[in-house]
Amino acid sequence: MEPIRYGLGDIVQLKKPHPCGVNEMEIIRMGMDIRIKCTGCKHSVMIPRAKFEKRLKKVLRAAAQQEGEQDEN
Ligand SMILES: [Zn+2]
Repeated sequence: MEPIRYGLGDIVQLKKPHPCGVNEMEIIRMGMDIRIKCTGCKHSVMIPRAKFEKRLKKVLRAAAQQEGEQDEN
């Protein structure tokens, strides 16, 4: 299975919706931890990358391609 590609500014869907009922999260910070913000209630949470990847279902809308492809590992 290929890992899902995601990046800063993407709108993603997680396996479980946020308690407010909305299942669209925006990635607002990338690092060791990922900070995502609920597009419904604007609440933001920081979760470890590994946990985020387990919860990630799909990318709904990728942010506009930018900064080239520098961080491909
Ligand atoms: Zn919410």
